[in-house]
Amino acid sequence: MPYKDKIMETLIAIALAFLVSTNTTKVEYAQKSEKKEVYNESRKRLNDLLHTELSVSFDWQKQHLLGQAELTLKPYFYPTDQLSLDAKGFDIHSVTLNGNSLKYDYNDLVLNIELDRLYNRTEEYTIVIDYTAKPNELEVEGSDAITDAKGLYFINPLGEEKDKPMQIWTQGETESSSCWFPTIDSPNERTTQNIAITVNDNFTTLSNGSLVRSVKNEDGTRTDYWEQKLGHTPYLAMMAIGEFNITYDSWRNKDVTYYLEDDYHQNARAIFGRTPDMIEYFSEVLGVDYPWEKYAQVVVRDFVSGAMENTTAVIHGEFVQMTERELLDNHQDDIIAHELFHHWFGDLVTCESWANLPLNESFATYGEYIWREKWLGRLEADMHLEEDLQNYLRESRVKQKDMIRFDYVDKEEMFDNHSYAKGGRILHMLRYYLGDEAFYKGLQKYLVDNAYNTVEIHQLRLAMEEVSGEDLNWFFNQWFLASGHPILAVDYKYNQTTQQQTVTIEQIQDQSTTPLYKLPFYIDIYENGQTKRHAVTMTEQKQDFVFDVESKPINVIVDAEHVLLAEIFEEKSDEWWLEQMHAPLYMDIVFALRNIEEKDNAILHALNSNSWPVQLLGIEEAISLKNKEEFSGIIEQLARYNDNTSVRALAISFLAKLESKAEHEALFESASAQQSLYVAGAGLEALASVNSEKALGLAKNLEEDFPGAVSRLYAKYGGLDKMEYLKNNLQNTNGYSKYYASINYVSFLKNQELGVLLEGVPALESSLEDSKSWMQRVKTYLYNDLVASIKTSLKTEKDKALKEKGKATIERLSQE
Ligand SMILES: [Zn+2]
Repeated sequence: MPYKDKIMETLIAIALAFLVSTNTTKVEYAQKSEKKEVYNESRKRLNDLLHTELSVSFDWQKQHLLGQAELTLKPYFYPTDQLSLDAKGFDIHSVTLNGNSLKYDYNDLVLNIELDRLYNRTEEYTIVIDYTAKPNELEVEGSDAITDAKGLYFINPLGEEKDKPMQIWTQGETESSSCWFPTIDSPNERTTQNIAITVNDNFTTLSNGSLVRSVKNEDGTRTDYWEQKLGHTPYLAMMAIGEFNITYDSWRNKDVTYYLEDDYHQNARAIFGRTPDMIEYFSEVLGVDYPWEKYAQVVVRDFVSGAMENTTAVIHGEFVQMTERELLDNHQDDIIAHELFHHWFGDLVTCESWANLPLNESFATYGEYIWREKWLGRLEADMHLEEDLQNYLRESRVKQKDMIRFDYVDKEEMFDNHSYAKGGRILHMLRYYLGDEAFYKGLQKYLVDNAYNTVEIHQLRLAMEEVSGEDLNWFFNQWFLASGHPILAVDYKYNQTTQQQTVTIEQIQDQSTTPLYKLPFYIDIYENGQTKRHAVTMTEQKQDFVFDVESKPINVIVDAEHVLLAEIFEEKSDEWWLEQMHAPLYMDIVFALRNIEEKDNAILHALNSNSWPVQLLGIEEAISLKNKEEFSGIIEQLARYNDNTSVRALAISFLAKLESKAEHEALFESASAQQSLYVAGAGLEALASVNSEKALGLAKNLEEDFPGAVSRLYAKYGGLDKMEYLKNNLQNTNGYSKYYASINYVSFLKNQELGVLLEGVPALESSLEDSKSWMQRVKTYLYNDLVASIKTSLKTEKDKALKEKGKATIERLSQE
């Protein structure tokens, strides 16, 4: 497709996405217009919480926490005789100071205490609060009980669900720690913390800091005393309680531990074993040693998010707990590195308010890149960075916001692909602009100057300015304090008479909402067997860059390090794109394959590469070709012999799309028996496309190990006898797996007769009953899909009872 059409398509997509998002969701639109009035300032500091001393035990039956909190505070600056604490959904039994009861007023969210006298800022005081926290009974202003932000979670509290362990864990971010202890629940507060946790002796506990002692009580319980001497913000406080098996590792004499369920214990090192190397590398590259007492990671059931960077005690969702077969295909280093990097960016230096969240999340996201670069090399790191760009671009089609934004309606909005993916890419640009040495020196200064303190974006700028000696307002203003991104149209002209190569670049983004960018980048010119690199800076809306050359270039690459956070459309010949297949970077290949019109030679080049990400790109392109057959030989070789399981799996999927696919039946069958689940899953699906009966038979062996692939197969090819399996799979999975399980279940139902379909709907409804927010969107989509399918069946349905039932189901699903 010529690049001008592609530009139009992109611009239309952006416009349409905005139209759709404003037309269909009136509420969101209304909120948007209200939003201008909103300014979410950082919380005013009246009292300073210095130390938190907690002692907690649990009533599993009622899902209550029985707590005593001893809080040491002082007025922040001005004298005061008042103290306001966040305490959500508690029963308050007493509030005392030096043994004397204090007057207080409590509205289920905030505890307002009258101190016994006026205190000034040099005077510390300690209050003691006896309370019961009831996270499941918490209601906010008459609305439904909070399911997403209740702070403290009891898993299988009565031990009634078999195959599920009993656990308690917490999730503080954003402001939910105050659901289990009274505190000043804001990121700009910071406290040291001791927690004494009393549990039955069979349970292991984990919390922030060090386990200083463990005491067996006379009633058969045990109390573990955890102590964190270094101050951190309340949202990072954590507890996890369960029957965990601990694996011990270390980094420079500090404990590094992995808490897993028994069944996964033997894989602890395979999953987490690179953690000490990561701590070492991040300490070195940042010039600031990992500062905290220890580093523990625990995997819990039914976690509400992917993972959480609680200081010294990271919680992971159960997807991190991988089997040996899963480990053949993948690793969890991205999320492990992300949470670890937070221990500098987020935990040591904390965003002052949620409006400044990129100072936590953009860095943690970029930490993934930094670790990949060290561990796997730049190619696989760049591959990850490209996913980030695509994640942001997808989001940019429906919303474009400032990175640092004080006008959010709900603070949870901040946890989006702007704060994560776009921010990571912005830091990558900053690094390439300043150079590695200045960038990391700047980060070191920022960390040292602001250690155990809170930050706004300006502190990052000032640190970078001081180290580099350069005013960086232009960079921070256009990237962090404005919205959108550049869209660049690039054209090339060679003038034989003057021996000059001209590169014309135009910024075509909508400049009523998006800045005109200042863009520094490299242009590489390939001529006479050499590459000449030119550093340029674009400052105009449209600009010509003219270079003297000795002969006609064989290729020119704009943004040669591929660091710009931009959409780039180029008018470039196929000869140049093909030449670009020899260039060194991952993104060189991505752009070449994406843009070349005659793809065959480029694909062949990619397939013959010795780098698996490039081979993968080649197969992806080949799959979308009309004439696939010409690659069948070479891709069959990849399917059989390639070392990388992603390549083998995708190669098999390619072969299954050929008209001659039946010839590969034996290969598909043997693939389905391989240890790699990627390969086995692809093999099974490929086999089903030529011999579904055989595939269904073999799928039985994979039911337990690979429910994802098996469910997909059953949904598409399975008969009524597979319904039970799909239903069980739906009911037994959690987190991200539930997403796939529900999609498979719905697509199975849609293939069935109306009676069966309607029978099957309630299981879906009950399974999605209290979905997390992101799952809510999937739920709406699935319900709409089912409603459409039922409506179609009703048109021809004769049975009256069934018709009634169908209508009732439609009504029920439409109300959700
Ligand atoms: Zn994060």
